[in-house]
Amino acid sequence: MHLSFFLPIKTSRNMKIVKYPNNVLVKKSEPVTTVDDELREFVIELYQLMVDNNGMGIAAPQVGKNIRLFIFPAKSIGNYQCAINPAITSVSDRKILAPEGCLSFPDLNVDIKRHASIEVRYADLDGEYITETLHGIRARCFQHEMDHLNGIVHLDRLSKTRKRVALRKWRKKRKLKTR
Ligand SMILES: [Zn+2]
Repeated sequence: MHLSFFLPIKTSRNMKIVKYPNNVLVKKSEPVTTVDDELREFVIELYQLMVDNNGMGIAAPQVGKNIRLFIFPAKSIGNYQCAINPAITSVSDRKILAPEGCLSFPDLNVDIKRHASIEVRYADLDGEYITETLHGIRARCFQHEMDHLNGIVHLDRLSKTRKRVALRKWRKKRKLKTR
């Protein structure tokens, strides 16, 4: 089920994107226990917030909710779907280095190495389990959002030195912007 089927809805009421550094971004999230209307409403709101901010993926901890759920690109371009209690069951040996952004780090793109393809399992908004093999941007996005559920941000995938340099660059940029 594609999330765009639910649009249009009003923009999120009190949902806000949590920016780095914040404790919810380094916490391990808890499994979702029930897929009900309340959860579906939360996901639709999360989706709207992601679209409003030109994101191509967002995880629940990024709005302060430490539950194992995120939104990532669907197979058909321009569509998005929700992954609940996701798992990566196998990964390719081949890795690809490519620039990656994150809504919790506005205006920062960093080159991150990710597995080229992965096998995954997750529940959808009907609570049905799906197994699929992901490639390209879908594989990259899934790995990025999966990290969020484990309290890991993309910069943690860099060496200590490169992380420090990237953070310094980002903070400088943010300062200039708010001036
Ligand atoms: Zn992110």
